[in-house]
Amino acid sequence: MVTIKSKQEIEKMREACKIAALAQRAVEEAIKPGISTWELDRIAENTMKQYGAIPAEKGYPSGVKGVPDFPGSICASVNDEVIHGIPSKRVILKEGDIISIDLVAYKDGFHGDCARTYAVGNINKESQKLMEVTKQAFFEGIQFAKKGNRLGDISHAIGEFVEKNGLNVVKEFQGHGIGRQMHEDPGIPNYGKAGRGIRLEPGMTLAIEPMVMLGSDEILQLEDGWTIVTEDGKNAAHYENTILITENKPEILTKLEK
Ligand code: MG
Repeated sequence: MVTIKSKQEIEKMREACKIAALAQRAVEEAIKPGISTWELDRIAENTMKQYGAIPAEKGYPSGVKGVPDFPGSICASVNDEVIHGIPSKRVILKEGDIISIDLVAYKDGFHGDCARTYAVGNINKESQKLMEVTKQAFFEGIQFAKKGNRLGDISHAIGEFVEKNGLNVVKEFQGHGIGRQMHEDPGIPNYGKAGRGIRLEPGMTLAIEPMVMLGSDEILQLEDGWTIVTEDGKNAAHYENTILITENKPEILTKLEK
């Protein structure tokens, strides 16, 4: 069921989303060669707690027998890791890496979800392009996140932009509605046909998240039961914001004023 948020609920979404964005900024400021993804995890969690939120990814159920609940407060996915990388003291960032940080703050009953891919020092041109296309794909998509449009209009715009740039979107994972639950209806694929799917209405809150790969569109899951990597070992990137459908332009909720 797609939930339409009331005015009061939207205010709570705004708050959770602002905290997610603050945590993202704190992580960004700490990224440098030599830091571990575990340290980034601590920074994100501490920032959320400082603002009265908790990291919703921690303890998220795998839903698979024998696979533990997610142990991190963030997903930290380095280079060929696409999503759901587990923060670790053994994963130390080095010059030339790219790292995707996906985090969710939970406060007062509501979730705020955002992801960014960051460069560690100087990165090669290919990775630079990958990051730019992934971010721009989000903005191409939300141009269509307007009252009366259909969900497929967003998906189509993202997929077409990525393809036009010679890269591939991940097809097995998608964006989602968000609110009281981290994952609500509708699912939002990063590819598809325009003019299909539900009609967008003011009060819908959606997490739109292009996941893009430099190489083939094949992915694998590591034995930890969480980490998704590209099959060919080429880099992947991720860019996500929680947005609000309004009467006019969409509002990006996981964005800081400055
Ligand atoms: Mg996310």
